[in-house]
Amino acid sequence: MKFYDQMLLVAAELTRQSQIVLMPFCVVAEQDQDSEQKAALDLLHFKKIDLCERVVVVTDEAGYIGESTRREIAYAERNHHQVEYRAMPAPTTDGGAALSSLRDTTGSVRMLHRKTGVSPRADDCTDPTHEDRFERYGEEFCADCAPMGWTCAACAAIARDEHHMPPDWPCATAKLVYTEDELAPTVDGGAE
Ligand SMILES: [Zn+2]
Ligand SMILES: [Zn+2]
Repeated sequence: MKFYDQMLLVAAELTRQSQIVLMPFCVVAEQDQDSEQKAALDLLHFKKIDLCERVVVVTDEAGYIGESTRREIAYAERNHHQVEYRAMPAPTTDGGAALSSLRDTTGSVRMLHRKTGVSPRADDCTDPTHEDRFERYGEEFCADCAPMGWTCAACAAIARDEHHMPPDWPCATAKLVYTEDELAPTVDGGAE
């Protein structure tokens, strides 16, 4: 599926506007385009179009629209759905005005997937002069100890809920919405 990252950004923006987004989530490999699975997914996508009030087509700055998307647009128009087009620049990490405006619209994504220090648990702190404690995910941590590493605030919260280890910073989402400079490791580990 082309423009999948751009679709995720548009989906996030529309969701923030309290709109229900029915986007495709299954990417079919190039060699499986003629498979039964692909046909079933196409059918499912038509069902999603039946449910929706309007269709937002995400494309690149050149306006590329692939064959199956054309079929879906024709179907939506036949069924009197409003069709809108969104041209999105590819979310690479190499600067550019278009990209920075894209990042502006992803402000709340940035805030969620921000860099945060991994503090040791209060029980593991051996320094008796450390008194500052904070609670997160139902556990107590030492705020005076140096962070043991860096993780993503949003992804770490999900990981804790599912009893996984918190992922390292930057997570996959952070890589999309932060600049290369912001992602670069710094001597002091960077600002939170
Ligand atoms: Zn994250
Ligand atoms: Zn400590």
